Amino acid sequence: MNQRLPVQGAQGDLLRLVATGKAESRAGLARLSGLAASSVSLRVEELIDAGLLAEEGSGASRGGRRPRLLRLSPRAGVLAVADLGAHHVRLGLLDLSGTPVVVEERPCEIANGPRATLDRIADAFDELVAAHVPAGVPLRGVGTGIPGPVDPATRRVVTPSRMPGWNDFPVADHLATRYDLPTLVENDANLMAAGEARWWPDHENLMVVKAGTGIGCGVIVNGRLHRGRGAAGDISHVRVRSDASVICACGHPDCLEAYASGAALMTALSEAGIEVTRPADIVGLVHDAVPEATSMVRNAGRRIGEVLTVLVNFFNPDVVAVGGSLSAAEPLITSIRAAVWERCLPLATRDLEIAPARAGRDAALLGAGALLLEAALTEAQA
Ligand SMILES: [Zn+2]
Repeated sequence: MNQRLPVQGAQGDLLRLVATGKAESRAGLARLSGLAASSVSLRVEELIDAGLLAEEGSGASRGGRRPRLLRLSPRAGVLAVADLGAHHVRLGLLDLSGTPVVVEERPCEIANGPRATLDRIADAFDELVAAHVPAGVPLRGVGTGIPGPVDPATRRVVTPSRMPGWNDFPVADHLATRYDLPTLVENDANLMAAGEARWWPDHENLMVVKAGTGIGCGVIVNGRLHRGRGAAGDISHVRVRSDASVICACGHPDCLEAYASGAALMTALSEAGIEVTRPADIVGLVHDAVPEATSMVRNAGRRIGEVLTVLVNFFNPDVVAVGGSLSAAEPLITSIRAAVWERCLPLATRDLEIAPARAGRDAALLGAGALLLEAALTEAQA
């Protein structure tokens, strides 16, 4: 069952206030919406009858009767989200509070092109919904992360590396042909940043680096994802200093990605006679103290750190969190830290934390859930 959330009128306003955590009681809704208490109660009853809100327990008392707490009902719906990698896709169903109902990973070759890949994701969504969602709980939105640049205006993929056939493909439109629901299409590092931000509640400005097959970065400004025109945070094709010259997948020489991405490290290891099949294997080699791997990862960290030096001085974030499959290699984080501490202004690093990402493997799915819920609560009804 696919069904859009109500976004218009008083119902939409009240639902948004509860879903975003701004209000958790009828009194709170009345105060924030400017509606009379009686009409708030009427609308709340309608939303409870529609299975969207649940009212339970007791909230903080300010003397007098304890207010009952309003929450999105666990039966209000699910969101289906995916995080697409080069050779696999991570899939999840989340309830509207962002809690995963089920998460699983399936093999999926992005090089098979957008139609085959997106249809595979949609088939997987349908299977997961059939297996894990009780009858009567509607699907409220679908979304996917893309390991390449996404134009937020057209929601098309724009000149991605290592994704043959995807350039200018209308990902959101394609998903919408299958689901008449709000859709989310977002760069994967942006999704990771949106998920990670929830783990740093007292920090407003973050850079979240994704070090996996490629290198990306998501930027959180004043607690919100900063997209710019879509390219914000894309550090993969910044030119790095080098004695040699390596041509990047984008055609330019000496991009960061050509030296420090998981893909680049896998090529370099292969040239040294060490075969690995995915970036996570490199972490295994580092843990086993294979000197070539450790040295390459350390160099990658230094190069990423040198690029971040400029950005940390410029943006002056509270946190640089490093996620992605390479981030479990300790020398990577240590070298990033060393480069940034060595070259940044003291004022820029005084309170700066550079740390492994906290949100874990599902960061992008959690971020996708948060952004998709926002879209589902605001998107104009078709
Ligand atoms: Zn490049």
